[in-house]
Amino acid sequence: MAQKKFKSEVSQLLHLITHSLYSHREIFLRELISNASDALDKLKYLTLTQEQLKTLEFTPRIDVKFDTKDHKWLTVSDNGIGMNAEELEKQLGTIAHSGTRTFLNEIQEGTKSSDLIGQFGVGFYSIFMVAQKVRVTTRKADSQEAFCWISDGQGTFSIEKAQRDNFGTDVHLELKDDGKEFAHRFQIEEIIKRYSDHIPFPIYLTYTKEEFDSKGAPKSSAETTEQVNNASALWKRARSELKDKDYESFYKSISHDTDPPLFHLHLQAEGTLEYTVLLYVPQKAPFGIYYSDFQPEVRLYIRRVFITDDFKKLLPPYLRFLRGVIDSEDLPLNISREILQENRILSQIRSTIVKRFLNELGELSAKKPQVFANFITHYNRILKEGVYQDFANREQLLEIIRFHSTKAEGPTSLGEYKSRMRPNQKHIYYITGSAVETLRNSPLLERYQAKDIEVLLLGDEIDEVIVPSIDSYKELKLVPINQKSEGDELVDTRDPALEKSLQPLLEKIKKVVGNSVKDVVFSARLENSPVCVVLDKNEPTMRMRELLKGLGEREEEIKPILEINPRHTIIQQLHKIDNRDLFNDMCHLLLEQSLLIENIPFKNSGAFVQRINKITERALTQSPSK
Ligand code: ADP
Ligand code: MG
Repeated sequence: MAQKKFKSEVSQLLHLITHSLYSHREIFLRELISNASDALDKLKYLTLTQEQLKTLEFTPRIDVKFDTKDHKWLTVSDNGIGMNAEELEKQLGTIAHSGTRTFLNEIQEGTKSSDLIGQFGVGFYSIFMVAQKVRVTTRKADSQEAFCWISDGQGTFSIEKAQRDNFGTDVHLELKDDGKEFAHRFQIEEIIKRYSDHIPFPIYLTYTKEEFDSKGAPKSSAETTEQVNNASALWKRARSELKDKDYESFYKSISHDTDPPLFHLHLQAEGTLEYTVLLYVPQKAPFGIYYSDFQPEVRLYIRRVFITDDFKKLLPPYLRFLRGVIDSEDLPLNISREILQENRILSQIRSTIVKRFLNELGELSAKKPQVFANFITHYNRILKEGVYQDFANREQLLEIIRFHSTKAEGPTSLGEYKSRMRPNQKHIYYITGSAVETLRNSPLLERYQAKDIEVLLLGDEIDEVIVPSIDSYKELKLVPINQKSEGDELVDTRDPALEKSLQPLLEKIKKVVGNSVKDVVFSARLENSPVCVVLDKNEPTMRMRELLKGLGEREEEIKPILEINPRHTIIQQLHKIDNRDLFNDMCHLLLEQSLLIENIPFKNSGAFVQRINKITERALTQSPSK
């Protein structure tokens, strides 16, 4: 029997599975049952759509059997689509999913959670947490030939011809010593109920039923087969019949998640279009959600027949964290999966789902603030993608997404900002940067704070992209405060006489730092700081520049506008200095400190330190401490 080597990724994965993943070993059974269920789904679809398979006798079932005596083995069988030799080699010898790389990288960095296995579609290999040897015997639905795949999970596998009376697949596990605990009736029943209760096909367990006489002595024993799971399409049951725990157990059976969901949305639409939707929001954002190869878990059914889980066709990308089912009564079963996306019925369903889900979020924020706060913690960032992806729902999205701000403890909404606005306030003000905490200390905020005007602190990378595109909220313009301002509400704080008297100083400063800045102007926004820098209108912000640089754009030199505070002692003293050297040093230092506080890199930090030392030395020698 020729031994074949696993592809290197599989070997790596197997090594990890057998050496470091132990937290939820029982999920191997969930994964086997989910594969059996997928195989039944595939065959069900074909028997309904393919002429040559319509005559096939199809009574879908999954069978679990185990060694009732010595607890050495366990088998999961299905009469689903099966695999031919080629598929066996490909599906079980390589990893089809592109997510595997990411999975391996992440897990090596110390994440030890077997929940991840299922999420990355490498579920099959989880059997090697409990099995020392595995035999997969399978026969494809349209074929007479059966094959057997054998491996001990140590780097190689073999495939040989085999016998199987009917189409379908048996996965037979020879259990490790510490896997024997799973070959027990109550253990298996419990796992199936926990994770697979709502698999839409019956799962049967065969066990030995012992009868005892009145004295407790064994009277007889007989092999019994019983259905263990519920096997109903839960989403089709009336909402009034369903309890939280029903929803939760359904979630666990479809999701690979061991945590309960944060909340769900169950719609049963009747009328011109008839469909059912049951969507869940996971407690935490699914792992890898920002990777390009992330695989969402929403399934489309047509009259309970599984059609596709290709998310792109079902919902907009910014809702990819949702898990659940969409089941339509109106779509034709034999609809080509390629043209699904353009289908009018589906696109109507899709747009209703999105609207209803966003509505639900709105209600949640009013009625269950704690749940909503959890939601925002995990999904604010991804919903913001919607602001530029989903124009049709932008208004609703703008009510939901949250920002940090100078006046709110936690994240706040644009609506809340509006309600707190000063009576004559004309705009919504914001500042962007790399971290909310740095932003909170920016000198640019001083005057706004002094005038009790709220400023949004946008520290999220994505804010940089979406906020300029929002432009306005309920006719209020969103105005960045780190850009040159044009006659906004701070204008009345100016002192024209003072500015006039300091005009010569302004010109002198310009001569010293003129090469590094676009302009030097008097500031209306500073209260306690001597200087600050702002960017010219329509100049990309610092953060934007970093993003562009990351994308390979050529970096252009930044020439900010230096604003000086005419009321500040340093500025007024500077006006009186006649020592040229000291004046020059001071001008450079003022510019450099204002760059520093905005996290804008400047070229010569050595010169900056030298200047500080020079001035410190001067201060110390001229007024030595006692
Ligand atoms: P996934 O289920 O996410 O595709 P798995 O690692 O669980 O990943 O399974 C790998 C592949 O092996 C499946 O995609 C399927 O093609 C095949 N497979 C596994 N179990 C069965 C089965 N019982 N019947 C038919 N094919 C199966
Ligand atoms: Mg699977």
